[in-house]
Amino acid sequence: MSAAAQSAMKGTGIGRGVAVGPVARMSPPPLPPPAEPSLLTHEQESQRVTEAIAAVTADLTTRGQTAGGQAQEVLDAQVMMAQDPTVQEAVETLLAQGQTGEYAVHTAFAEMAETLQALGGYLGERAADLHDVAARVVAALRGDPPPGVPDPGHPFVLVAQDLAPADTALLDLDKVLALVTIEGGPTSHTAILARGKGITAVVGVAEASRLADGDEVIVDAANSTIVVSPTQEQRAEAAARVQARAAAQAAPLTDGALADGTPVPLLANLGTPESAAEAVQLGAEGVGLFRTEFLFLSSESAPSVEAQRKAYQELLEAFPGKKVVVRALDAGADKPLPFLNDAEEENPALGLRGLRALLTNEEVLRDQLSALAQAQEVTSADLWVMAPMVSTVEETETFAKFAHQHGLKTAGVMVEVPSSALLAEQILKTADFASIGTNDLTQYTMAADRLLGSVAGLQDPWHPAVLKLVREVGAAGTVTGKPVGVCGEAAADPLLAVVLVGLGVTSLSMAPAALADVRAELLRFTKDQARAIATAAVSASTAAEALQAAQHTATTLTNE
Ligand code: PEP
Ligand code: MG
Repeated sequence: MSAAAQSAMKGTGIGRGVAVGPVARMSPPPLPPPAEPSLLTHEQESQRVTEAIAAVTADLTTRGQTAGGQAQEVLDAQVMMAQDPTVQEAVETLLAQGQTGEYAVHTAFAEMAETLQALGGYLGERAADLHDVAARVVAALRGDPPPGVPDPGHPFVLVAQDLAPADTALLDLDKVLALVTIEGGPTSHTAILARGKGITAVVGVAEASRLADGDEVIVDAANSTIVVSPTQEQRAEAAARVQARAAAQAAPLTDGALADGTPVPLLANLGTPESAAEAVQLGAEGVGLFRTEFLFLSSESAPSVEAQRKAYQELLEAFPGKKVVVRALDAGADKPLPFLNDAEEENPALGLRGLRALLTNEEVLRDQLSALAQAQEVTSADLWVMAPMVSTVEETETFAKFAHQHGLKTAGVMVEVPSSALLAEQILKTADFASIGTNDLTQYTMAADRLLGSVAGLQDPWHPAVLKLVREVGAAGTVTGKPVGVCGEAAADPLLAVVLVGLGVTSLSMAPAALADVRAELLRFTKDQARAIATAAVSASTAAEALQAAQHTATTLTNE
């Protein structure tokens, strides 16, 4: 590694992109309004706040309608935050004390954001969304334009503290080459939207606060780095990668396959039925993971069979004749659902989550399976169901029994816990298929919380310890003749995807934006070559060495 590369700033890369360009910084959020008595009456202040909130919700709604898809859902959620009765009550209390509208809004939203942050996980990452709503309402009260993205008059790398969903949703991709945020984790809305739109992004780069307007940088999402003032050689290498990516994106939408024709179906990870259309457009051959819990994250009570049937039917209708793998509700830890996780737990990631939570709330599981069976009846998709967080053979048997009782023929399990990887052969005697969730499998193998920035270095699916467990499952799939997919983020890393196939994985599921890169990479290697690359990676001692060994073997094989 060169000296310059050694001093690269580190964060969490989103997607596989690389971009080169000058920095333009987002203006910092407005200063907090001072606590000073209002010169207006309580009623006048109250009226101002109501009008400002109405203006902001109208603006967010219009932005959502313009952006459509996932961005619209995020912005609609922000509209709900702006209208949240608890926050409005807190604003009213402050106004009644004679504070200004600006101060009341800022303070009430900041308190709510703090509460969410204390909860951590998915909800904690919504804090940035609340801060943005507050900044927009305060700007409206002041008669200022909404805080937003700079326009330096040329393409640029946008550097921000954390980007608001309203800004991410409407980024002009002809101007914004890449995104860098100082805060935010891999599950922040910035990251989710950037992934969805295929924007090159690195989030959580603490050192990026040192970047100034005009600084030349390489934003390398694949390596999670920002290289400042790159050398000529680094620029040339980045430019070659930009070109290779553009070629991959423009390539025909063929079914996933290796160079020798071995099929490797490329499937989509989805969280809502509305996102299906884009996946189809990007050549997804079906769905490898439908995260049903995303539909119900804000529900206080268990969703009805009818509400679920509707959502599942809409999803299945988008994939006639194609395989669609729907995961039973994976509640707990980073994705708590109030109606499934009510107990206070010291270590929720090790508690009653996933299938464990469903088996203690059997009626929720039964309702979900009934809804899926009803949707299956009226559509032609090939529906597979799978259980999250399975750790034993008994759990596998129980889930398969439930699924079959409801008329669901194909029942599998997610391999996310080392125990189920080690027992894969026994598990696959009962389960119809396995799908490896490398996000959690890495978390549990390395004992490193997947949401915690301080242990992010350990949360690396290239680690040979993780790869060895994948090899166990791949081998079990070969012995039992059952399919073994991967639906964790690892499948979206093109070279790692080749390694996974070399370890015996038979299909790959990922965010649709990653399909083109993975499709192109698979076509470069035969099955034997993929095996050789995998062997090199598994034999390494560290994650970094595994990556290097895979890269080295891949280069040697393609130059032969
Ligand atoms: C995983 O753990 O890899 C996975 C795909 O599930 P989720 O990310 O939803 O936990
Ligand atoms: Mg998981």
